[in-house]
Amino acid sequence: MLLDYHCHSHCSDGELSPEQLIQLAEQNDVEVLAITDHDTIGAYKKLPDTHIKIVSGIEFSTCWNKIGVHIVGLNIDLHSKELLKAINLQQKARKYRAEIISKKLEKVGLIGAYEKLNHKKHIGRPDFAKLLVEADICKNQQHAFKQYLGAGKIGDVKNEWLSFEEVIAVINHAGGVAVLAHPLYYKLTNAKLNRLVSYFVVAGGQAIEVINGYQNLDKTKYLAKLAGFHKLKSSIGSDFHYKEGWSKLGVNSNLVENLLTFSHQEY
Ligand code: AMP
Ligand code: MN
Ligand code: MN
Ligand code: MN
Repeated sequence: MLLDYHCHSHCSDGELSPEQLIQLAEQNDVEVLAITDHDTIGAYKKLPDTHIKIVSGIEFSTCWNKIGVHIVGLNIDLHSKELLKAINLQQKARKYRAEIISKKLEKVGLIGAYEKLNHKKHIGRPDFAKLLVEADICKNQQHAFKQYLGAGKIGDVKNEWLSFEEVIAVINHAGGVAVLAHPLYYKLTNAKLNRLVSYFVVAGGQAIEVINGYQNLDKTKYLAKLAGFHKLKSSIGSDFHYKEGWSKLGVNSNLVENLLTFSHQEY
């Protein structure tokens, strides 16, 4: 069975509208889908009718030990006052960060980026990557991240996101499940990753992503073991952003134990 608890629409940095995303999920025979845009639930305002079981979702940006960490919230009450307030704060933090990134990138020759992006509801680092390519400063977006926007680079601005604990509390308060997104993406040592997961559990986290996009079996086994050790549930998702991207919408759920499940909700 194909299931997807992590993907993006154009309400954040994905390519497809929520309607197109659901259409693609139908084509791919995905049975359960959560749209988890970065710091927004905008996609849930525009959902078409579908036979696919839809789970509400979001991917929050936060920080742990000065490392940028993402936490997915699933099955959240989309009307939760705490959730809406948190999203509002994250969006303000995003705008503010964009202004700083723009100023920093002037030093490498990218002029007026913020003015060009200001009209957008959601401004993310991929927007700056596109501008760096358009201005011929970088040959492609991958290069833009490697040289200017990735961890530790000039455009990787430390931001005032809601804290790690706050994000998990907001998700739990909204009746949702907090999922540590792509645990291997942070490139931590085993010991440090265990420490991150321990903190996550103490703060109220309930699951980790055992599969994120295309992933080799060794990594899946390692993460399944990590989940088991910390008595956490498993989540799986494609982290789909683009049709031409590295991952396809929908993940095979048959090989995963202790998978999160949710009862039906109307949106
Ligand atoms: P932001 O949410 O603004 O911090 O931007 C992070 C997003 O940038 C991620 O969710 C990815 O979609 C994208 N991203 C991160 N690293 C890379 C990379 N190396 N190449 C292309 N896109 C990336
Ligand atoms: Mn993204
Ligand atoms: Mn992420
Ligand atoms: Mn994501």
